[in-house]
Amino acid sequence: MSKIHQVVLIHPDAASKPVPGAPCNGCGVCCLLEPCPLGVVLSGRRRGACIAVRWHSEAHQYRCGALSAPADVLQNVLPRPLRRLASLLSPGLARLAKRWIAVGQGCDSMVESDGPVAASETSSTMRNDSPPKPI
Ligand code: SF4
Ligand code: SF4
Repeated sequence: MSKIHQVVLIHPDAASKPVPGAPCNGCGVCCLLEPCPLGVVLSGRRRGACIAVRWHSEAHQYRCGALSAPADVLQNVLPRPLRRLASLLSPGLARLAKRWIAVGQGCDSMVESDGPVAASETSSTMRNDSPPKPI
């Protein structure tokens, strides 16, 4: 299988990506590379960082904003006339996220990290051998 190399901007305090199947440590690599099916709907694209991923500085982890900050995510994705409904709709988005994303089931990303790039402490290169996520 051909290797695809991508460079992603990642917080310097983020943990290294664990091996697939290990407990998720919130490294953020999966969501920063490409959105999951829910993230595709929210982000309106299939490549690049998900619009919903959020860095939590107190935990030093990336988390899914659809779960941790659904009102904030909706403020960013709803058309301007509908943004006042963000608080009303946020419990529904959080419920949807609980059903759609694999929380607590371990790392399901097959991406291999080459680690930080010397020229920039905020970048990492990733080798993505996983097939495209189903939409
Ligand atoms: S699922 Fe894996 S790649 Fe995604 S945040 Fe968790 S540990 Fe990182
Ligand atoms: S888990 Fe959440 S933050 Fe990550 S790609 Fe899916 S919707 Fe986006």
